[in-house]
Amino acid sequence: MSQFADGETPEELSFPALCHSTNDGGEGEGLVLRNLSAWYGQAQALWGASITVDYGQFVGIVGRNGAGKSTMLRVISRLHTRAEGGLVLFGDEIMALRPEEVARRGLSMMREGGGIFEALSVEDHLMLAARLAGQRQQSSDVDEVWEWFPMLQERRDAKGGFLSGGQRKMLGLAMAFVSRPRCLLLDEPSAGLAESVTESVFLMVERLAQSNMTLVVSEQDPRWLSEADKMYELDLGRVVNETTPRTSGHGGEAVTSPS
Ligand code: ATP
Repeated sequence: MSQFADGETPEELSFPALCHSTNDGGEGEGLVLRNLSAWYGQAQALWGASITVDYGQFVGIVGRNGAGKSTMLRVISRLHTRAEGGLVLFGDEIMALRPEEVARRGLSMMREGGGIFEALSVEDHLMLAARLAGQRQQSSDVDEVWEWFPMLQERRDAKGGFLSGGQRKMLGLAMAFVSRPRCLLLDEPSAGLAESVTESVFLMVERLAQSNMTLVVSEQDPRWLSEADKMYELDLGRVVNETTPRTSGHGGEAVTSPS
């Protein structure tokens, strides 16, 4: 897409991962969407969707092409503003806020291939993410990243402009791990990746989920969300099902199934 659609704001405002550090021992509701609707011009893309993500939970949003997953994440990060309904982040209503204000409250959205600087090396990106997030333990976090992603370590001196799509995605996630946003949105991390690379990416997602981060991940294939605490299915802009994959195994049992 070359131009911003009706109601959207420039994406540069949501540089991933570089926002306030988390680990503040919170609890309760992390992110709540109440009756969220969204439009592109006259066309309605979300129809009164409601979801609740508790603090530190890993929640999946699953749905086929055009179901409204990206729109939902873009509304949450305030990149898509043509929307109505309730949107609460860590207890505060954020619907009227700008993307950079939401980022300051600890929300970060990782975009496909986004947030990577052509001229900075892999290691520079990680050190920058750690420094901007004020992490003291930056070198141990970066060491852990090397452990999780040997492929990134092999390319630690490579400049962002020379990384493949999969490597960029891994670097984006690694930056999120190091900088620890309070709430991270990942829009279809598997998109465009080989199965084996996607497996590595989801190992990192699960590692992030264990670190107390409030995580919302969209995917078309529910298989990738089998470790999620909760999964909402979207169809034609509506929430049509809610399951608990991790506790009930294999795609989870239906919690609700609105008609
Ligand atoms: P995918 O898995 O293909 O990314 P999705 O579940 O993320 O799909 P969205 O991209 O949110 O779905 O699209 C929801 C609806 O909004 C679809 O009908 C789509 O055609 C429409 N839509 C999305 N982006 C735009 C846009 N920029 N302008 C107009 N309509 C749009």
